[in-house]
Amino acid sequence: MSMFEFLVGTFYLGAATLFVVGLHKMRAPSTARQGNLISAGGMAIAVLTTIVFALVDFGGNVIGWGALVFGAAVGASYGVIRARTVKMTAIPQLVSVFNAVGGGAAAAVAFADFVANLSRASLDLTVSIPIVLDVLIGSITFSGSLIAAGKLQGIISGKPLTFPGARVLNVIVALIAVGAGVLLLIMPPNLLILLVIMVASLVFGVLMVLPIGGADAPVIVSLLNAFTGLAVAMAGFAIDNQALIIAGALVGAAGTILTLQMAKAMNRSVGAIILGGFGTGDTATAGGAAAADLTNVRELTADDVAIQLAYAQHVIIAPGYGLAAAQAQHEVAELAKLLTDHGIDVKYAIHPVAGRMPGHMNVLLAEANVPYEQMLQLDEANAAFGNCDVALIVGANDVCNPDARKPGNAVSGMPILDVDHAKSVVVLKRSMRPGYAGITNPLFTDPKTGMFFADAKKGLADITTAVKEYVTA
Ligand code: NDP
Repeated sequence: MSMFEFLVGTFYLGAATLFVVGLHKMRAPSTARQGNLISAGGMAIAVLTTIVFALVDFGGNVIGWGALVFGAAVGASYGVIRARTVKMTAIPQLVSVFNAVGGGAAAAVAFADFVANLSRASLDLTVSIPIVLDVLIGSITFSGSLIAAGKLQGIISGKPLTFPGARVLNVIVALIAVGAGVLLLIMPPNLLILLVIMVASLVFGVLMVLPIGGADAPVIVSLLNAFTGLAVAMAGFAIDNQALIIAGALVGAAGTILTLQMAKAMNRSVGAIILGGFGTGDTATAGGAAAADLTNVRELTADDVAIQLAYAQHVIIAPGYGLAAAQAQHEVAELAKLLTDHGIDVKYAIHPVAGRMPGHMNVLLAEANVPYEQMLQLDEANAAFGNCDVALIVGANDVCNPDARKPGNAVSGMPILDVDHAKSVVVLKRSMRPGYAGITNPLFTDPKTGMFFADAKKGLADITTAVKEYVTA
């Protein structure tokens, strides 16, 4: 090993160490930002090392230099501009696009490595297995993530798109991809077989995500994120790059754990996701017709809500997507602080899939400096609702829909926040329109519920102003 190779290996090891330390720090909200910075530092070292390594390796190869500089410039500009301009509510789509490019890039790396080895009579299994797995998983991730991004963006219908025989077709396409993979391992290098694996995997990715709809979308985005990690790790084995192996393994493991936790939080089976027919509960959606139905609805004003809050002892705030859409995190934190200063016990109930991305509510509330000890996870919150005087729901809908306890609808079986166990419920949203899953919510017509129709940001500010009248009077 030359001194140069030793240095490259050492820098990669340093980068990988920073990934592990960063990830470790992300376990607790208080150190998560620091963890993010440390991991980003690791990534910067890995990228710079790769660039220097590649430039030295290319020597006088102008095409290599050009491709590297052009690729780095386009990728970095797109990443920086999109990450800086993306709306908070569009982050899941962006994550999905990043998953797509991650998986696609990993598959392209394995493809290029295979083409470079085409002239050999046979490939060692230590080379061919990672190549096959990388092309397979990377291609599924690429096409599946693009479809998921299209669904989240509304370019492709969010409803489950399925047709008779879809499951059978899924299985056939999967068998073709896996069968061609096995063939490639036992035969001399053959580009046609690799192309068959790639095309079958791309089709499988599309077929896997198209039938998914409604409330089930977050699990598939998380699963594809895990796939990206696995594909990247395989690319690391294919081109013998330790940083890729370790980073990919970390993403794969973290993504898998998140997927399992989310699937559990939504009472869905991950196996059913891969075989399709997932999310078909959406076909039972019936939100539109009831959108303007105000029968049995008890309407409240900001003043009514303020009285309830000011005279409560225990208040639990359940935030949802509407809080993110209205960017009302600072207003909710201000109201909670006002109540807390007045001696009222205020907690936040955080549902794992509230909002449009995993951890959405934690991120929003942390941005508004909400103390971590005030944030209750699903189980803790559900244990506390029985003793709660007012459950204030801000822009949440599906995650507190009691119909989830019944079979036959889009959110059936999804664990929910038991807000209806509180003594009284206030829902702050703009209308009776349904949430992401597109179904009506009987909570809104429950006799113990009052509806305050307003934009979350303005509504919370109005409640705060009204509460001040009572707590300072
Ligand atoms: P929902 O999408 O169920 O409901 C959000 C509610 O917010 C809507 O009913 C809407 O009603 C209201 N709203 C929208 N804008 C505003 C505003 N400016 N001010 C006040 N209210 C507003 O959200 P939940 O958080 O309850 O549930 C999340 C859903 O998203 C689940 O079905 C989940 O599965 C899904 N999902 C979650 C992902 C994740 O990873 N967290 C990713 C993708 C999907 P109105 O229009 O009347 O104001």
